[in-house]
Amino acid sequence: MTPRTLEAPPVPEAAEDLNPFHIAMAQFDGAVRYLPDLDPGMVEFLKRPDRLITVEFPIETQDGEVRNFVGHRAIHNSVRGPGKGGIRYHPDVTADEVLALASWMTWKCAVLDVPFGGAKGGVVCNPKELTTSDLRKITRRFIAELGETIGPHTDIPAPDVNTNAETMAWIYDTYQMMHPGENNLPVVTGKPVDIGGSLGRKEATARGSLFCTQRALERGLVPELESVKDATVVIQGYGNAGSIAADEFANAGARITAVSDSRGGIFAVDGLDHKAALEHKRRTGSVVGLPHTTTVSNAELLAVPCDILIPAAMENEIRIDNAGEVRASVVVEAANGPTTPGADRILFDRGVQVLPDILANAGGVTVSYFEWVQNIENEQWDLETVNQKLLRKMNLATDAVIDMQREINDSLDEIEAERKRQNGGRGEPLEPVDLRTAAYILAVRRVARVTAARGIWP
Ligand code: NAD
Repeated sequence: MTPRTLEAPPVPEAAEDLNPFHIAMAQFDGAVRYLPDLDPGMVEFLKRPDRLITVEFPIETQDGEVRNFVGHRAIHNSVRGPGKGGIRYHPDVTADEVLALASWMTWKCAVLDVPFGGAKGGVVCNPKELTTSDLRKITRRFIAELGETIGPHTDIPAPDVNTNAETMAWIYDTYQMMHPGENNLPVVTGKPVDIGGSLGRKEATARGSLFCTQRALERGLVPELESVKDATVVIQGYGNAGSIAADEFANAGARITAVSDSRGGIFAVDGLDHKAALEHKRRTGSVVGLPHTTTVSNAELLAVPCDILIPAAMENEIRIDNAGEVRASVVVEAANGPTTPGADRILFDRGVQVLPDILANAGGVTVSYFEWVQNIENEQWDLETVNQKLLRKMNLATDAVIDMQREINDSLDEIEAERKRQNGGRGEPLEPVDLRTAAYILAVRRVARVTAARGIWP
């Protein structure tokens, strides 16, 4: 698809609504415009969450204080299978953020064609101010409060921001204490490998992003960039997704020129030592200050000229006010929701390709699905098997999204005619779709098809 203009149109900053759930619903609305055959009641059902549970609970912290915490768990849709989605620990967690993240999981699982629905959870807390013992108590109490609402065939948590394999081991242990005598390993994924975790799960999100990028470049996504090899890469966020993306892309021959975390970023025009950056972060708490690098702010990092920009931190990092400064050919969304709808429009108009989160970071949930299957079968697959299956899934999904974009953009006139027929001749003209809208259309079609095939109950 040829971009229509090269310059970003001026868009008023005040127009931007940064509520993640509003954004998720706007993305959905944008996609269903291209699906005029969907029943309006079905559209409403697919858009809205199935349920949101909010719990409050106290723990006694290590310093002897009693503190109250709020946690949320949402299931957006479970038509294609049990709810699946991470648990996040962050001071900015809100019910709307959890609802947005749960809906993105629904569409992601459908794009990858893994048999799960969409779920997500979060506890409002600042892990930087809590000890490991505090976090273990928060985890155990949160899982106990969720009670029977999670389970190996109902809702299956996984890691997300500020949670990791150790957190997943605590979740498993808590659930196991509540349900002795059963195979409870599939209740949570992203576990340590010696407690039923899958080989390759820790790396899966970033590895999936690499596979998706490689496939899209092979398919001609960016004419002047045929492969990841020798590409320059900038990464925002240096946790599970970001730091492993640095390793994966570097191993594929790319040059990592800038990375950042919540305290700031570092830049080296000839490429930086990404492993040393991780070691520096382990030692000092941040990548900032790594020798032979220049310190940059997170805002400056997004404007560093590069071939591939990988947001791997939080939502709403690329917005209307800074999308015009992005100097990458392709944005690979390892994070969930890093680009706002306003920024999407600006990037699309400027010809910057965006591999959307519901495709580009789906390697994590895909290997979580593999872990769940291994747990049910009491099996352990070797790493080569996991990686091969992941590659196949990512390639199929990337192809399906690119093909969907072509299919829709080649039939805009027919879709528009159908919309007008249904609206008594009214309707605005349809614009060509970007890859995010194409991925949504693919996912919504798949979930709608299963919903209809199951028959609306009762
Ligand atoms: P993490 O906690 O391991 O790492 C988050 C990183 O982001 C940290 O380095 C932190 O310092 C940095 N960060 C936070 N705020 C920042 C900011 N404003 N600017 C720059 N850096 C900032 O979390 P993670 O698991 O790597 O998750 C990161 C993103 O990837 C999230 O959007 C998450 O939902 C998404 N994701 C993660 C997985 C997974 O398997 N872990 C799977 C799919 C998607």
